[in-house]
Amino acid sequence: MADLLVVGSVALDSVTTPFGQVTEVLGGSATYFSYAASFFTDVKVVAVVGEDFPKAHLAALKDRGVDLSGLQITHGQTFRWVGEYGFDLNEAKTLDTRLNVFANFRPSLSGAHKKIPFLFLANIDPELQLEVLRQVERPQLVALDTMNFWIEGKRQALLGVLAEVDVLLINDAEARQLAREPNVIKAARAILGMGPRTVVVKRGEYGSLMVSDGSFFFVPAYPMESVLDPTGAGDTFAGGFMGHLAREGRTDLDSVRRAIVFGSVMASFTVEDFSLNRLLHLKADEIERRYASFQDLVRFEI
Ligand code: AMP
Repeated sequence: MADLLVVGSVALDSVTTPFGQVTEVLGGSATYFSYAASFFTDVKVVAVVGEDFPKAHLAALKDRGVDLSGLQITHGQTFRWVGEYGFDLNEAKTLDTRLNVFANFRPSLSGAHKKIPFLFLANIDPELQLEVLRQVERPQLVALDTMNFWIEGKRQALLGVLAEVDVLLINDAEARQLAREPNVIKAARAILGMGPRTVVVKRGEYGSLMVSDGSFFFVPAYPMESVLDPTGAGDTFAGGFMGHLAREGRTDLDSVRRAIVFGSVMASFTVEDFSLNRLLHLKADEIERRYASFQDLVRFEI
């Protein structure tokens, strides 16, 4: 079992979906990621919060064994995100992004953090992702996530990080936007030309598609009758994906395929409730059962 490090946002989210509304609840890409990955391996977080961040949220992560020694608590306000979804839950509309303490954040990795074998650069300013990447000593696998906010606002910095990672996890609209190409397959191929050897395109309720050198792999989303809030689906997908690879200590294509299924499983739990509410009472055997049920979803006789 190998350790996993994530740099990303730890946030207070305010979210409206057709099924409810929450204000200033626990969120952030590194939060969802680390919580999900903690079911698979040891996870360390590099991030920053303000003094206003509720201590109970830190306790929730610590209770799952998440290593918060790289989480700075500084003077100022925690990162805040305000988002909204319509009946098409695949598309988040950002109403407000307040970087707050992230605006002046300079990550500085400890000795143990620098030797990390598995690194996830979760959705955050690509300049911060690059600063972390510059400090680690040749990890076995580096994966990256990003979003429209950074593709629009920091494209050059993002292309710089992308050139140095092994795997990009991205949703379909963002893949199109990044590659400036409407067809998702062509977009994924164009992104392969930007650096990563594997691109995983997440398509919300329609599943996810991996494109790698000469190979495709597709996993459906778990069929859900009740989805309350899709926030964090992408980050928990990444948590299951990277968590599984780190647990196995492997990065071969068969392991990557299994990791995509674990990613889909973790995302399917997250969307059942707002914030991390469903994950907070998730049990390891529920993960294994849903993982096994994916085999039935795609099995057929020729
Ligand atoms: P997702 O898994 O894509 O739904 O990610 C949702 C999380 O991303 C939310 O909890 C937000 O706090 C966080 N988030 C939203 N916008 C940004 C941003 N520009 N940078 C970093 N994190 C963000």
